[in-house]
Order: sequence, then C-alpha cells, then structure tokens
Amino acid sequence: MSIFSKIAAGEIPSYCCASNEEFYAFLDINPMVKGHTLVIPRREVDYIFDLTDEELARMQVFAAHVARAIKKVIPCVKVGEAVLGLEVPHAHIHLIPMQSERDMLFSNPKLSLPSEEMQAIADAIRKEFNA
Ligand code: AMP
Repeated sequence: MSIFSKIAAGEIPSYCCASNEEFYAFLDINPMVKGHTLVIPRREVDYIFDLTDEELARMQVFAAHVARAIKKVIPCVKVGEAVLGLEVPHAHIHLIPMQSERDMLFSNPKLSLPSEEMQAIADAIRKEFNA
C-alpha cells in the first residue's frame, strides 16, 4: 500500500481538503506556497497516464472543484496544476495557488507551516468545496 493510499484510507494523518468515493485531496506536507494541495485517486496507480480515460476525466473535474475552493480561500492570480510523480509512486496532481510563474518552480525552497495553520487552511478549503 502506498503512503498516499494509507492517507486516503485514514491510516496516516493528513490535512484533508476534499474527498469523494473515488478521489482524495490533502495539503502537501512541504508546500511550495500556502494552499499547495495534492489530488489523488483512491485506486493505487503509480503513473497518472496509466489511469483510464474515464478516471482521468473524473479526476480532472474533481481537481477543478478543489481548485475553485482553493482560490476562494488563498488569494492568488490563478491555481496552477502540475504532475511530477517522481517522489511518491501514487498518481497525484499538484494544485498550487500562484502569484507568479515563480510559484510553480519545484526547485524553490519549501515552506514549513505550523500544524494549526495547515489545519485552518484545509478546513477552509473543505468548507468551500462542500459549499
Ligand atoms: P512528486 O512525487 O515529485 O510529485 O512529489 C510528491 C509530493 O508529495 C511532494 O511535494 C511531497 O512534499 C508530498 N508528500 C510526501 N509525503 C507526504 C505526506 N505524508 N503528506 C502530504 N504530502 C506529502
């Protein structure tokens, strides 16, 4: 079981931003910016492009709903989307609130936010997602 499967199953704690029966969204533990969120399928697949066409379409729609919620909570120009998957072998989309192109540079130093702030951000996104 991948670390992200354990997170989606609630076996490892996470800052949950949104979920349904097929997908789970949670804050990146080492965010590039406040509100940096990961979207995963509950089905464990390493490479995102090994998901079926239908899963990819549903995942993108789910990610769009999460991105809209993020944008209501985190002031930003747009929410950017990226897929890397070089570290964790469980398909995931990065949603990153951007002020500028620089915010999408994965070589940037990562933030370390207090857990209370991470929880508050996740709670606010979840509230908007469910609105
Ligand atoms: P990549 O696989 O290259 O897309 O990067 C994996 C991302 O997952 C990184 O941005 C990590 O900070 C993030 N990450 C790894 N473990 C956790 C975790 N337990 N909770 C939240 N985010 C994580």
